[in-house]
Amino acid sequence: MSPLLDVSDDVRAEIGDEEADRLLAGENAPGSYDCTSCRTPGNPGQERTSTVLFVGGETAVLAFAHASCIPSQVVSVSEEQLQGAVRSITGQTAVPAPAAPVSPASPAAAAGNAGETGQAVLGVTCGQILLGNDLHPAIVVEPTGPIARPGSTGPGDDFLPLLIEAGFLPVTNVATEPSLLPGWSVLIAMGQLHAVLQGNPAGGQPSAWWQAHQPLTLTDGWRASANQRHTVLVYAAPAGSIGQQPREDLLRDALEKAAAGGTLVAAAMPLAGT
Ligand SMILES: [Zn+2]
Repeated sequence: MSPLLDVSDDVRAEIGDEEADRLLAGENAPGSYDCTSCRTPGNPGQERTSTVLFVGGETAVLAFAHASCIPSQVVSVSEEQLQGAVRSITGQTAVPAPAAPVSPASPAAAAGNAGETGQAVLGVTCGQILLGNDLHPAIVVEPTGPIARPGSTGPGDDFLPLLIEAGFLPVTNVATEPSLLPGWSVLIAMGQLHAVLQGNPAGGQPSAWWQAHQPLTLTDGWRASANQRHTVLVYAAPAGSIGQQPREDLLRDALEKAAAGGTLVAAAMPLAGT
């Protein structure tokens, strides 16, 4: 019986038609694997499985994930991370490195509506937020400096207006759960935060609004609640309003201060592919 494997066009383009067809025919597919996203066992003979190609500077590794966790895709990582991943992924298949160089993930460029004009990059902090009696996985995005509107040369900070135009809503009360922002999602792979993906209003593939230069390691608790809820709360505030907070209670305090000052926006996003 053929395995229930998804091979996206991007993955196919990287590994080649021959390898993709061999996988789909079951010649080169694993009997079982540990999902690169949630790390629990999967079996392509019994459940839909995504092929996930991790591409480093020199090598690439094909790994597998539950299709319900993440869609089939190509994930760019540093060569160092890839070597670390090779040691931790089971059921991987080594494939030749793609001929075309893969551009490194850049946080500034990935900011899309933020990059280009300024030097600011988006800092991201992960933590869990208590809403009512429930812990929710959250990420807090704060640029290192003002974000200018593309094409604008003024000194102003357009970070919040740009996000509100994209569908984020101002937060007046941190205890209220943010509403879902259609089209956006959060990409977690190999237990790490890789990107915040922005829907494409014209249809087609989402693009990275923020992409980790180095994927962020997530705590077990954060991953557990993300896997349980399949939704991540994404908060954003302009440069200088949150800062690096070493503890979740301090992060919460900083969010409440930003909300009180009218400088906090938020949206809820599903995990990518769900
Ligand atoms: Zn999974």
